[in-house]
Amino acid sequence: MNEMLNGRIIKGIGGFYYVETAKELYSCKARGVFRKKRITPLVGDQVQIRLDADGTGYIEEILPRKNFLTRPPVANIDQLIIVTSVCDPSPNPLLIDEAIAAAEDKGIEPVVVVSKTDLQSGEWLRVIYEKAGIPFFAVSSVTDEGVEAVKALLKGKITAFTGNSGVGKSSLLNRIDNRLALETGEISQKLGRGRHTTRKVELLKLDDSSYVADTPGFSSISLEQCDLVRKENLQFCFREFEPYRNACKFSSCSHTCEKGCAVLQAVEDGKIHPSRHASYVAMYNEVKDLKEWE
Ligand code: GDP
Ligand code: ZN
Repeated sequence: MNEMLNGRIIKGIGGFYYVETAKELYSCKARGVFRKKRITPLVGDQVQIRLDADGTGYIEEILPRKNFLTRPPVANIDQLIIVTSVCDPSPNPLLIDEAIAAAEDKGIEPVVVVSKTDLQSGEWLRVIYEKAGIPFFAVSSVTDEGVEAVKALLKGKITAFTGNSGVGKSSLLNRIDNRLALETGEISQKLGRGRHTTRKVELLKLDDSSYVADTPGFSSISLEQCDLVRKENLQFCFREFEPYRNACKFSSCSHTCEKGCAVLQAVEDGKIHPSRHASYVAMYNEVKDLKEWE
């Protein structure tokens, strides 16, 4: 029983890591060497484990990470689905754009999903995000509009969901796969408690190659991570700026107010949506302030 097995950490509790291999789920400890190197295994990590004679697993190796988030702590996310509801609570494009930028910065594919379309149309959001070249879906967990399309997106990927509490993330996930049986707002109201109070980060398995990251920090992925986007990288987090940003008059152009800015011209010409550019300027000023205070 000394061969190495490949697997993925799907849960971590009290110093134990649950590693899923092709065959089985093993409860494992991390080798002391990780502590020395100050590396903490993360949920989502691909690892190599070795089994002791008594069946205890040890994590021997963490394979190189594609990316990782610190809050919530999770590695190797392929895509971030940013859920926003047409109303109740109403959408905030700046928050959506912050989440998109955080994803772009980490090399995670952003997807915008507008929910509760049974209540109102979310087409104005589609206009913004399709113009930006960001995948966009309209869904309703009441009529099931768009649910199959989002389900298809999850195939073969590790997906994290983000969005304010109450936008319908849990309801949507339950419509996608009713075995998940996630608690929704209605139920926690009845029980008189907030959700996500004690839950840990966990990968929920949809099928052999598809997982959803269930994280207590769902709604804060955007903000926490966005603080980490460096000012000079921000322009690269707006993919639709790409064709223009090298055509500005000044090479150090911030694309916020300069004369001869090709990005501003593209906004003027209707090629970049003003809502996206307004978010960029707001974020630019935020990041700039942070740097100056440091
Ligand atoms: P979460 O906090 O993002 O996980 O949101 P929940 O899934 O718990 O949903 C919050 C509230 O919105 C609940 O009362 C749901 O019943 C309601 N809700 C969720 N999805 C929809 C939808 O597609 N249409 C309508 N009308 N209500 C929804
Ligand atoms: Zn410019």
